[in-house]
Amino acid sequence: MRLPEDELAALEAGGLRRHLRRIESGQGPVVTMDGRRFHNFSSNDYLGLASHPTLTEAFAGALRKHGAGAGASRLICGTLGAHLDFEEKLAAFKRSEAALTFSSGYAAAVGTLSALTGKEDVVILDKLCHASLIDGARLGGATLRVFPHNDLDKLASHLRWAENRVDPARGRVLVVTESVFSMDGDRAPLAEIVALKEARDAWLMVDEAHAFGVIGPRGGGLAAELGLENRIELRMGTLSKAAGLSGGYLCASRATVDLLVNRARGFIYSTAPPPALAEAAGVALDLIAGAEGDARRAALWRNVDAFANSAGVEAASAIVPILLGSNEAALAAAESLNAAGFLAPAIRYPTVPRGGARLRVTLSAAHDPDAVEALAAAIQALG
Ligand SMILES: *Cc1c(COP(=O)(O)O)cnc(C)c1O
Repeated sequence: MRLPEDELAALEAGGLRRHLRRIESGQGPVVTMDGRRFHNFSSNDYLGLASHPTLTEAFAGALRKHGAGAGASRLICGTLGAHLDFEEKLAAFKRSEAALTFSSGYAAAVGTLSALTGKEDVVILDKLCHASLIDGARLGGATLRVFPHNDLDKLASHLRWAENRVDPARGRVLVVTESVFSMDGDRAPLAEIVALKEARDAWLMVDEAHAFGVIGPRGGGLAAELGLENRIELRMGTLSKAAGLSGGYLCASRATVDLLVNRARGFIYSTAPPPALAEAAGVALDLIAGAEGDARRAALWRNVDAFANSAGVEAASAIVPILLGSNEAALAAAESLNAAGFLAPAIRYPTVPRGGARLRVTLSAAHDPDAVEALAAAIQALG
Protein backbone atom coordinates (compact mmCIF):
# COMPACT_ATOMS: atom_id res chain seq x y z
CA MET A 1 0.00 0.00 0.00
CA ARG A 2 1.14 3.53 -0.81
CA LEU A 3 2.15 5.32 2.36
CA PRO A 4 1.59 9.02 3.08
CA GLU A 5 5.21 9.20 4.28
CA ASP A 6 6.42 8.21 0.80
CA GLU A 7 4.22 10.80 -0.88
CA LEU A 8 5.52 13.48 1.46
CA ALA A 9 9.09 12.46 0.70
CA ALA A 10 8.40 12.79 -3.04
CA LEU A 11 6.99 16.29 -2.48
CA GLU A 12 10.02 17.18 -0.40
CA ALA A 13 12.41 15.94 -3.10
CA GLY A 14 10.65 18.07 -5.73
CA GLY A 15 10.75 21.24 -3.61
CA LEU A 16 6.96 21.04 -3.42
CA ARG A 17 6.29 20.17 0.21
CA ARG A 18 4.32 22.86 2.04
CA HIS A 19 4.06 23.57 5.74
CA LEU A 20 1.66 25.52 7.87
CA ARG A 21 3.22 28.42 9.72
CA ARG A 22 1.86 29.71 12.97
CA ILE A 23 1.18 33.46 13.10
CA GLU A 24 1.04 34.59 16.70
CA SER A 25 -0.59 37.98 16.16
CA GLY A 26 -3.85 38.86 14.44
CA GLN A 27 -4.03 39.47 10.69
CA GLY A 28 -2.51 42.81 9.73
CA PRO A 29 0.22 44.63 7.80
CA VAL A 30 2.70 43.56 10.50
CA VAL A 31 2.50 40.08 12.05
CA THR A 32 4.56 38.15 14.55
CA MET A 33 5.90 34.67 13.98
CA ASP A 34 8.40 32.76 16.15
CA GLY A 35 8.67 35.89 18.28
CA ARG A 36 9.79 38.03 15.31
CA ARG A 37 7.92 40.83 13.55
CA PHE A 38 7.37 40.69 9.79
CA HIS A 39 5.93 43.11 7.28
CA ASN A 40 3.17 41.00 5.82
CA PHE A 41 2.95 41.14 2.03
CA SER A 42 1.14 37.85 1.68
CA SER A 43 -2.46 38.40 2.76
CA ASN A 44 -5.46 39.35 0.63
CA ASP A 45 -6.71 41.87 3.20
CA TYR A 46 -6.39 44.57 0.52
CA LEU A 47 -8.17 47.35 2.38
CA GLY A 48 -6.99 46.42 5.87
CA LEU A 49 -10.56 45.74 6.96
CA ALA A 50 -9.76 42.49 8.81
CA SER A 51 -8.52 44.56 11.76
CA HIS A 52 -10.64 47.69 11.18
CA PRO A 53 -12.15 48.76 14.54
CA THR A 54 -15.53 49.60 13.00
CA LEU A 55 -15.77 46.11 11.55
CA THR A 56 -14.46 44.21 14.56
CA GLU A 57 -16.76 46.17 16.91
CA ALA A 58 -19.74 45.50 14.63
CA PHE A 59 -18.87 41.80 14.51
CA ALA A 60 -18.64 41.67 18.33
CA GLY A 61 -21.96 43.50 18.71
CA ALA A 62 -23.64 41.22 16.17
CA LEU A 63 -22.39 38.17 18.07
CA ARG A 64 -23.97 39.45 21.28
CA LYS A 65 -27.21 40.10 19.41
CA HIS A 66 -27.48 36.91 17.32
CA GLY A 67 -25.48 34.37 19.32
CA ALA A 68 -22.66 32.34 17.86
CA GLY A 69 -23.83 29.72 15.37
CA ALA A 70 -26.69 29.49 12.85
CA GLY A 71 -27.71 26.04 14.11
CA ALA A 72 -28.73 24.44 10.82
CA SER A 73 -28.43 24.61 7.08
CA ARG A 74 -30.15 27.45 5.25
CA LEU A 75 -33.05 25.28 4.01
CA ILE A 76 -33.81 23.80 7.43
CA CYS A 77 -33.93 26.63 9.98
CA GLY A 78 -30.61 28.37 9.39
CA THR A 79 -31.85 31.28 7.25
CA LEU A 80 -31.93 34.14 9.71
CA GLY A 81 -32.89 37.72 9.03
CA ALA A 82 -29.24 38.77 8.97
CA HIS A 83 -28.51 36.45 6.01
CA LEU A 84 -31.39 37.77 3.93
CA ASP A 85 -30.70 41.40 4.84
CA PHE A 86 -27.10 41.05 3.71
CA GLU A 87 -28.01 39.26 0.48
CA GLU A 88 -30.45 42.02 -0.37
CA LYS A 89 -27.89 44.71 0.40
CA LEU A 90 -25.19 42.97 -1.61
CA ALA A 91 -27.51 42.51 -4.61
CA ALA A 92 -28.34 46.24 -4.56
CA PHE A 93 -24.65 47.17 -4.30
CA LYS A 94 -23.70 44.82 -7.14
CA ARG A 95 -26.72 45.93 -9.22
CA SER A 96 -27.91 42.37 -9.41
CA GLU A 97 -31.45 41.05 -9.28
CA ALA A 98 -30.44 38.67 -6.49
CA ALA A 99 -27.50 37.39 -4.47
CA LEU A 100 -26.77 34.20 -2.55
CA THR A 101 -24.09 33.72 0.08
CA PHE A 102 -22.05 30.59 0.78
CA SER A 103 -19.66 29.73 3.61
CA SER A 104 -16.65 30.44 1.38
CA GLY A 105 -15.73 31.60 -2.09
CA TYR A 106 -14.59 28.05 -2.77
CA ALA A 107 -18.05 26.75 -1.86
CA ALA A 108 -19.70 29.45 -4.00
CA ALA A 109 -17.65 28.45 -7.06
CA VAL A 110 -18.05 24.71 -6.63
CA GLY A 111 -21.72 24.97 -5.64
CA THR A 112 -22.65 27.24 -8.54
CA LEU A 113 -20.76 25.44 -11.30
CA SER A 114 -21.66 21.92 -10.24
CA ALA A 115 -25.34 22.85 -9.90
CA LEU A 116 -25.68 24.77 -13.15
CA THR A 117 -23.70 22.58 -15.55
CA GLY A 118 -23.98 18.91 -16.47
CA LYS A 119 -23.66 16.34 -19.25
CA GLU A 120 -25.66 18.39 -21.76
CA ASP A 121 -23.38 21.39 -21.36
CA VAL A 122 -20.00 22.78 -22.34
CA VAL A 123 -17.90 24.81 -19.90
CA ILE A 124 -15.05 26.87 -21.37
CA LEU A 125 -12.43 28.02 -18.84
CA ASP A 126 -9.42 30.30 -18.93
CA LYS A 127 -6.28 28.22 -18.34
CA LEU A 128 -5.43 30.21 -15.21
CA CYS A 129 -8.82 29.86 -13.52
CA HIS A 130 -8.70 29.28 -9.76
CA ALA A 131 -8.89 25.71 -8.43
CA SER A 132 -12.40 26.32 -7.08
CA LEU A 133 -13.70 27.04 -10.61
CA ILE A 134 -11.94 24.02 -12.07
CA ASP A 135 -13.21 21.74 -9.30
CA GLY A 136 -16.78 23.00 -9.72
CA ALA A 137 -16.69 22.54 -13.49
CA ARG A 138 -15.29 19.01 -13.14
CA LEU A 139 -17.85 18.04 -10.54
CA GLY A 140 -20.71 19.19 -12.77
CA GLY A 141 -19.71 16.68 -15.44
CA ALA A 142 -19.99 18.99 -18.46
CA THR A 143 -17.59 18.75 -21.38
CA LEU A 144 -14.70 21.06 -20.55
CA ARG A 145 -12.60 23.17 -22.89
CA VAL A 146 -9.69 25.34 -21.76
CA PHE A 147 -8.31 28.37 -23.60
CA PRO A 148 -4.81 29.77 -23.07
CA HIS A 149 -4.82 32.65 -20.61
CA ASN A 150 -6.80 35.63 -22.01
CA ASP A 151 -6.58 34.18 -25.57
CA LEU A 152 -9.69 35.59 -27.28
CA ASP A 153 -9.12 33.79 -30.59
CA LYS A 154 -9.02 30.41 -28.91
CA LEU A 155 -12.06 31.31 -26.81
CA ALA A 156 -13.92 32.25 -30.01
CA SER A 157 -13.04 28.94 -31.63
CA HIS A 158 -14.16 26.96 -28.55
CA LEU A 159 -17.43 28.91 -28.63
CA ARG A 160 -17.97 28.03 -32.31
CA TRP A 161 -17.27 24.38 -31.55
CA ALA A 162 -19.62 24.39 -28.56
CA GLU A 163 -22.42 26.00 -30.54
CA ASN A 164 -22.57 22.96 -32.80
CA ARG A 165 -22.35 20.52 -29.97
CA VAL A 166 -24.89 21.85 -27.47
CA ASP A 167 -28.61 21.58 -28.11
CA PRO A 168 -29.82 25.12 -27.32
CA ALA A 169 -33.17 23.81 -26.13
CA ARG A 170 -31.59 21.59 -23.47
CA GLY A 171 -28.02 22.61 -22.85
CA ARG A 172 -25.93 25.55 -21.88
CA VAL A 173 -22.55 26.91 -22.90
CA LEU A 174 -20.78 28.67 -20.05
CA VAL A 175 -17.55 30.66 -20.23
CA VAL A 176 -15.68 30.99 -16.94
CA THR A 177 -12.97 33.48 -16.08
CA GLU A 178 -11.69 35.75 -13.31
CA SER A 179 -11.69 39.52 -13.45
CA VAL A 180 -8.31 39.77 -11.67
CA PHE A 181 -6.21 36.60 -11.76
CA SER A 182 -5.15 35.40 -8.35
CA MET A 183 -1.52 34.47 -9.05
CA ASP A 184 -0.70 36.88 -11.91
CA GLY A 185 -2.63 39.96 -10.85
CA ASP A 186 -3.56 40.79 -14.44
CA ARG A 187 -7.08 41.42 -15.69
CA ALA A 188 -9.33 39.60 -18.13
CA PRO A 189 -10.44 41.49 -21.27
CA LEU A 190 -14.01 41.38 -19.98
CA ALA A 191 -15.66 43.63 -22.58
CA GLU A 192 -14.28 41.48 -25.41
CA ILE A 193 -15.27 38.25 -23.65
CA VAL A 194 -18.80 39.57 -23.10
CA ALA A 195 -19.09 40.43 -26.81
CA LEU A 196 -17.88 36.96 -27.84
CA LYS A 197 -20.24 35.05 -25.56
CA GLU A 198 -23.20 37.23 -26.57
CA ALA A 199 -22.53 36.52 -30.23
CA ARG A 200 -22.82 32.78 -29.50
CA ASP A 201 -25.62 32.96 -26.96
CA ALA A 202 -23.42 31.59 -24.20
CA TRP A 203 -23.37 32.50 -20.52
CA LEU A 204 -20.46 34.03 -18.63
CA MET A 205 -19.30 33.47 -15.05
CA VAL A 206 -16.76 35.92 -13.66
CA ASP A 207 -14.93 35.39 -10.36
CA GLU A 208 -14.35 38.85 -8.85
CA ALA A 209 -12.47 37.55 -5.77
CA HIS A 210 -9.57 39.98 -6.20
CA ALA A 211 -11.51 42.89 -7.73
CA PHE A 212 -14.41 43.21 -5.28
CA GLY A 213 -13.69 46.15 -2.99
CA VAL A 214 -10.55 47.07 -4.94
CA ILE A 215 -11.52 48.00 -8.51
CA GLY A 216 -14.37 50.03 -9.95
CA PRO A 217 -16.65 52.73 -8.60
CA ARG A 218 -17.19 52.20 -4.84
CA GLY A 219 -15.15 49.00 -5.17
CA GLY A 220 -17.90 47.27 -7.14
CA GLY A 221 -15.45 45.17 -9.16
CA LEU A 222 -14.19 45.07 -12.74
CA ALA A 223 -17.62 44.40 -14.26
CA ALA A 224 -18.85 47.56 -12.52
CA GLU A 225 -15.86 49.54 -13.75
CA LEU A 226 -16.63 48.50 -17.34
CA GLY A 227 -20.42 48.91 -16.99
CA LEU A 228 -20.98 45.22 -17.75
CA GLU A 229 -22.93 44.21 -14.66
CA ASN A 230 -26.16 43.26 -16.39
CA ARG A 231 -24.42 41.47 -19.26
CA ILE A 232 -22.68 38.87 -17.05
CA GLU A 233 -25.01 36.10 -15.91
CA LEU A 234 -22.96 34.85 -12.93
CA ARG A 235 -20.79 37.15 -10.85
CA MET A 236 -19.15 35.49 -7.89
CA GLY A 237 -16.74 36.67 -5.29
CA THR A 238 -15.61 36.33 -1.74
CA LEU A 239 -16.00 38.19 1.52
CA SER A 240 -12.63 36.86 2.69
CA LYS A 241 -10.35 39.24 0.82
CA ALA A 242 -11.04 42.99 0.58
CA ALA A 243 -14.10 42.61 2.85
CA GLY A 244 -11.84 41.31 5.62
CA LEU A 245 -14.16 38.50 6.79
CA SER A 246 -15.03 35.14 5.25
CA GLY A 247 -17.73 33.74 3.02
CA GLY A 248 -18.55 33.67 -0.69
CA TYR A 249 -21.32 35.08 -2.84
CA LEU A 250 -22.97 34.71 -6.20
CA CYS A 251 -24.87 37.56 -7.90
CA ALA A 252 -27.31 36.39 -10.58
CA SER A 253 -30.95 36.51 -11.65
CA ARG A 254 -33.63 35.67 -9.09
CA ALA A 255 -34.42 32.45 -10.96
CA THR A 256 -30.77 31.38 -10.96
CA VAL A 257 -30.44 32.06 -7.25
CA ASP A 258 -33.68 30.16 -6.55
CA LEU A 259 -32.41 27.24 -8.60
CA LEU A 260 -29.14 27.21 -6.64
CA VAL A 261 -31.08 27.14 -3.38
CA ASN A 262 -32.59 23.90 -4.72
CA ARG A 263 -29.51 22.41 -6.34
CA ALA A 264 -26.19 23.68 -4.97
CA ARG A 265 -25.11 20.89 -2.67
CA GLY A 266 -22.49 22.94 -0.82
CA PHE A 267 -25.24 25.39 0.04
CA ILE A 268 -27.90 22.80 0.89
CA TYR A 269 -25.85 20.30 2.89
CA SER A 270 -23.81 22.70 4.97
CA THR A 271 -24.70 24.72 8.05
CA ALA A 272 -25.39 28.39 7.39
CA PRO A 273 -22.57 30.78 8.30
CA PRO A 274 -23.02 32.54 11.67
CA PRO A 275 -25.66 35.27 11.36
CA ALA A 276 -23.24 37.67 13.08
CA LEU A 277 -20.88 37.16 10.16
CA ALA A 278 -23.64 38.16 7.74
CA GLU A 279 -24.37 41.29 9.76
CA ALA A 280 -20.66 42.14 9.90
CA ALA A 281 -20.48 41.63 6.11
CA GLY A 282 -23.11 44.34 5.76
CA VAL A 283 -20.89 46.69 7.75
CA ALA A 284 -17.88 45.73 5.60
CA LEU A 285 -19.97 46.55 2.54
CA ASP A 286 -20.83 49.99 3.97
CA LEU A 287 -17.13 50.61 4.58
CA ILE A 288 -16.17 49.43 1.08
CA ALA A 289 -18.86 51.48 -0.66
CA GLY A 290 -18.40 54.66 1.39
CA ALA A 291 -15.83 57.41 1.94
CA GLU A 292 -13.67 55.08 4.05
CA GLY A 293 -13.50 52.65 1.13
CA ASP A 294 -12.55 55.43 -1.28
CA ALA A 295 -9.76 56.61 1.04
CA ARG A 296 -8.48 53.06 1.52
CA ARG A 297 -8.57 52.30 -2.20
CA ALA A 298 -6.57 55.49 -2.82
CA ALA A 299 -3.99 54.39 -0.22
CA LEU A 300 -3.89 50.89 -1.71
CA TRP A 301 -3.28 52.16 -5.25
CA ARG A 302 -0.59 54.56 -3.97
CA ASN A 303 1.18 51.55 -2.44
CA VAL A 304 0.70 49.42 -5.58
CA ASP A 305 2.10 52.15 -7.86
CA ALA A 306 5.01 52.93 -5.55
CA PHE A 307 5.93 49.24 -5.28
CA ALA A 308 5.68 48.59 -9.02
CA ASN A 309 7.79 51.68 -9.77
CA SER A 310 10.51 50.87 -7.29
CA ALA A 311 10.63 47.15 -8.07
CA GLY A 312 10.58 47.83 -11.81
CA VAL A 313 7.51 45.70 -12.56
CA GLU A 314 3.99 46.23 -13.94
CA ALA A 315 0.92 46.06 -11.73
CA ALA A 316 -2.76 45.93 -12.74
CA SER A 317 -4.10 45.05 -9.30
CA ALA A 318 -3.02 44.59 -5.68
CA ILE A 319 -1.32 41.31 -6.66
CA VAL A 320 2.18 41.68 -8.07
CA PRO A 321 4.02 38.50 -9.10
CA ILE A 322 7.82 38.42 -9.20
CA LEU A 323 8.49 35.57 -11.63
CA LEU A 324 11.48 33.39 -10.77
CA GLY A 325 10.90 30.13 -12.65
CA SER A 326 12.26 27.30 -10.55
CA ASN A 327 10.91 26.14 -7.20
CA GLU A 328 14.37 26.47 -5.70
CA ALA A 329 14.78 30.09 -6.85
CA ALA A 330 11.36 31.04 -5.52
CA LEU A 331 11.98 29.33 -2.18
CA ALA A 332 15.41 30.94 -1.82
CA ALA A 333 13.96 34.38 -2.60
CA ALA A 334 11.15 33.97 -0.07
CA GLU A 335 13.69 32.76 2.48
CA SER A 336 15.97 35.74 2.01
CA LEU A 337 13.05 38.19 2.23
CA ASN A 338 12.05 36.38 5.40
CA ALA A 339 15.47 36.94 6.88
CA ALA A 340 15.06 40.65 6.04
CA GLY A 341 11.73 40.78 7.89
CA PHE A 342 9.22 40.41 5.03
CA LEU A 343 6.58 37.79 4.36
CA ALA A 344 6.03 37.22 0.64
CA PRO A 345 5.24 33.63 -0.24
CA ALA A 346 6.90 31.43 -2.84
CA ILE A 347 4.10 30.11 -5.05
CA ARG A 348 4.81 26.81 -6.75
CA TYR A 349 3.17 24.08 -8.79
CA PRO A 350 0.30 23.11 -8.69
CA THR A 351 -0.91 26.61 -7.76
CA VAL A 352 0.96 27.93 -10.80
CA PRO A 353 2.22 25.99 -13.87
CA ARG A 354 5.51 24.07 -13.60
CA GLY A 355 8.42 26.42 -14.29
CA GLY A 356 6.28 29.39 -13.24
CA ALA A 357 7.33 29.57 -9.58
CA ARG A 358 7.24 33.09 -8.22
CA LEU A 359 7.00 35.40 -5.27
CA ARG A 360 3.45 36.68 -4.91
CA VAL A 361 3.47 40.14 -3.37
CA THR A 362 0.12 41.52 -2.27
CA LEU A 363 -0.29 45.14 -1.29
CA SER A 364 -2.74 46.59 1.19
CA ALA A 365 -4.04 50.02 2.08
CA ALA A 366 -2.79 49.26 5.58
CA HIS A 367 0.89 48.98 4.60
CA ASP A 368 3.27 51.66 5.77
CA PRO A 369 4.65 53.26 2.55
CA ASP A 370 8.19 52.99 4.01
CA ALA A 371 7.77 49.23 4.34
CA VAL A 372 6.57 49.07 0.72
CA GLU A 373 9.72 50.87 -0.45
CA ALA A 374 11.90 48.65 1.74
CA LEU A 375 10.35 45.51 0.23
CA ALA A 376 10.89 46.80 -3.31
CA ALA A 377 14.55 47.49 -2.46
CA ALA A 378 14.96 44.03 -0.93
CA ILE A 379 13.51 42.45 -4.08
CA GLN A 380 15.79 44.50 -6.32
CA ALA A 381 18.72 43.31 -4.18
CA LEU A 382 17.81 39.67 -4.91
CA GLY A 383 19.33 40.26 -8.34
C1 LIG B 1 -9.56 33.09 -2.82
C2 LIG B 1 -10.27 32.74 -4.08
C3 LIG B 1 -11.45 31.99 -4.06
C4 LIG B 1 -11.95 31.33 -2.82
O1 LIG B 1 -12.47 32.23 -1.91
P1 LIG B 1 -12.48 31.84 -0.35
O2 LIG B 1 -13.49 32.73 0.22
O3 LIG B 1 -11.10 32.08 0.15
O4 LIG B 1 -12.87 30.39 -0.28
C5 LIG B 1 -12.11 31.80 -5.25
N1 LIG B 1 -11.64 32.30 -6.41
C6 LIG B 1 -10.50 33.02 -6.46
C7 LIG B 1 -10.02 33.56 -7.76
C8 LIG B 1 -9.77 33.24 -5.30
O5 LIG B 1 -8.62 33.90 -5.35
